[in-house]
Amino acid sequence: MCGIVGYVGYRQACPVIIKGLHRLEYRGYDSAGVALIGRDGQIELYKCKGKVEDLEHFLEGKDTESTIGIGHTRWATHGAPNDANAHPHFSQSGRIALIHNGIIENFRVLKDALKSHGYTFRSSTDSEVLVNLIEYIQDTNECTLEEAVRMALRQVVGAYAIAIVKRGDPDRIIAARQSSPMAIGIGEGEYFLSSDAASIIDYTQKFVYLNDGEVAVIEKGKPLQIKTLEGEASQVNIQKLEMSISQLEKGGFPHFMLKEIHEQPDTLVDCIRGRVSPDSREIILSGVLDNKERFLKAGRIIFVACGTSWHASLIGEHLIENLCRIPVEVEYASEFRYRNPIIRPDDVVIAVSQSGETADTLAAVEIARREGAFVYGICNVIGSSIARATDSGTYIHVGPEIGVASTKAFTGQVTVMAMLALVVGKLRGTLAEEEYHQMADALLRLPDTIRKVLECAPAVEKLSGIFTYAHNFIYLGRGYNYPTALEGALKLKEISYIHAEGLPAAEMKHGPIALIDAEMPTVVIATLDHTYEKTVSNIEEIKARGGKIIAVISEGDTQLRKRADFCIEVPSTAECLMPVVSIIPLQLLAYYIAVNKGRNVDQPRNLAKSVTVE
Ligand code: GLU
Repeated sequence: MCGIVGYVGYRQACPVIIKGLHRLEYRGYDSAGVALIGRDGQIELYKCKGKVEDLEHFLEGKDTESTIGIGHTRWATHGAPNDANAHPHFSQSGRIALIHNGIIENFRVLKDALKSHGYTFRSSTDSEVLVNLIEYIQDTNECTLEEAVRMALRQVVGAYAIAIVKRGDPDRIIAARQSSPMAIGIGEGEYFLSSDAASIIDYTQKFVYLNDGEVAVIEKGKPLQIKTLEGEASQVNIQKLEMSISQLEKGGFPHFMLKEIHEQPDTLVDCIRGRVSPDSREIILSGVLDNKERFLKAGRIIFVACGTSWHASLIGEHLIENLCRIPVEVEYASEFRYRNPIIRPDDVVIAVSQSGETADTLAAVEIARREGAFVYGICNVIGSSIARATDSGTYIHVGPEIGVASTKAFTGQVTVMAMLALVVGKLRGTLAEEEYHQMADALLRLPDTIRKVLECAPAVEKLSGIFTYAHNFIYLGRGYNYPTALEGALKLKEISYIHAEGLPAAEMKHGPIALIDAEMPTVVIATLDHTYEKTVSNIEEIKARGGKIIAVISEGDTQLRKRADFCIEVPSTAECLMPVVSIIPLQLLAYYIAVNKGRNVDQPRNLAKSVTVE
């Protein structure tokens, strides 16, 4: 969570930082700030509660002349979102300023110790403790700032990406990371720093991704220097990031979320490209094929994920059990990591995360690797921590997802899981050749199918007006579409703040049916699959109790057209790919209801996109 940007070079730092912070706002947005070193060598610190836009207003008329600076957009973990808690934080003497992404878990012990040495604190953050610890260590050891940073970080328990500037040192930023992302952009005679390389792609495509436990000294005109916390030099590995600026902009849509919903036909093309051959209809997933033995001998597959990725993993469970006949478990990464889980060497653990930085999922990956399982990653962000920490994996390649509510990442994840299940099913001989090729065909047609589904947008927009003021919603589905119901409910909760509950349709009668009345709309995914008739019965049960039904139905289904109060028709595809189709109207419904309610769709309250804290 939270976004960090830094710059040192020959340009004006402030506009570079503000632009980067705008791009990172999806990561956190309760306050923002910058620290710049002015011509006199003093650190100027500007910060305030609110969004990056508020910071921009705050900066109007201020002297921001500087070629070095660090900036931060916060997602509060310790202390309210107010001016004092906004980053950057000065050390007690004002000699150094720091920005921090993450949590210093042992901040209380460190803070008490610093207080006993006469330190006082202006904020309630854990981050201010760190900047003071660094100052204290530097003063007592009379060492360089870089050494003090390393010594301080050796005492820290928790997660951090930090950037530090020092008074009178206008050419140098010190940065470090542990469990929170940090990319250093390499320019000609200039350096950039960001929690997400995409945010600074305008300036460079060359990046160095810091590893856990590394400290970088980023000095204008000098080669980048990276050392471990113990002071040993690390390899500086430059990687290229290919991405266009248009991928980071709204492209004429009012919100990133709507753009990302409508992008899905194209993002699925990118996801499938080079993996499903249109000629031979063979599926090539090198991450699996290069590790055939692990999948052939897998005794069990365990998905670890959070949020939307966890919903996608439930679909992965159906796919793999159905097509590969391997037992599958789907775990919340946060529960898995603290449960002393049983992991066997023949387990394959699949970690699913859009950002590839989800703290709980990353921790689950580490546990699984330690226990000897083969760990596979399904991520979107190239070079992200989970992508690097896993043995192998597949990128979903859906491009930067900026709207906080995940849309195109979900469809990309399910599509990758379908390809994975097909490849593994074929390897294990659990899947008939004909079914394999039919599904390959369906995958190839999927982008066009989604293009067709999106034609329902105007109808869904109209429908949304009827339900804008509902206080609660139920979402139902069966089989492959039970997780879709969970995901549809999550979308509505996230961006409209309406309470919504997703359930397997049959579970209704074991309790939740008591909630049904004329005020409680129920969204039912009732497309033509092997559970259709059963779902129709569940719809009848709700109707019999006066409930209102919004049904997502297959094109041409006249039966439900007559029975449901409102219908959204979607085209058919292979049953196991249906979630990719049926989630689209649910994404749109959540979007339009949230817009009707005047919500901040791309940056809903209390949420942040890349959950790098536990
Ligand atoms: N823990 C720090 C704070 O509450 C940093 C949070 C963040 O990552 O934005 O200020």
